[in-house]
Amino acid sequence: MARYTGPVCRLCRREGEKLFLKGSRCLTPKCSFERRSYPPGQHGRENQFRRGRASDYLLQLREKQKARRIYGVMERQFRNYFRRSTQQVGLTGVNLLVHLERRMDNVVYRLGLATSRAHARQLVQHGHFMLNGRKTNIPSALVSPGDTISIRPESSRRTYFKELRQDFDDRQVPRWLSAGSDLVCSVSRLPARDDIDVPLNEQLIVEYYSR
Ligand code: SF4
Repeated sequence: MARYTGPVCRLCRREGEKLFLKGSRCLTPKCSFERRSYPPGQHGRENQFRRGRASDYLLQLREKQKARRIYGVMERQFRNYFRRSTQQVGLTGVNLLVHLERRMDNVVYRLGLATSRAHARQLVQHGHFMLNGRKTNIPSALVSPGDTISIRPESSRRTYFKELRQDFDDRQVPRWLSAGSDLVCSVSRLPARDDIDVPLNEQLIVEYYSR
């Protein structure tokens, strides 16, 4: 599946807020948004003062783009998540967020096994994780309640995972996930809206696709 490979800090500047796409760098003064909080591009700095009142469509579009960028999902896949969300019972916007949260790369990130979703995606693609005891290298695989996520024995000997193991027991993980010993984690239940702490107004995304 395709993914965005351009400069990621540009995405934060485009959305006008920090999306925390680069792990620990986002918390340092090196963050591009801290230094240049205006939109990217040749006329970004001048255009930031010229903008009038944003239209409803613009607000909806930006919210949808922000969600895609936070979770690292391309348009077609995002639209597929939305379509599936409309077919489920419950609020479509919440269903959409739950779909995004259930992605394997997001779960690895939420468990603290990677510094960012992009990092988690790479670790998954390189085959370092097992889902229910079977190797998986598909970042978009959706987890379900009762699933277990663990490190492949071959990978657990790597320095990265050895260091991770040292302070993993003290780690805080979201309430819908649980972290056991030796980096074996499980999905206790599906996340509720309260468990999803992303700065998104999902209703705007629903309105965008319902035009
Ligand atoms: Fe966004 Fe992180 Fe880049 Fe800052 S460092 S602009 S928060 S991706």
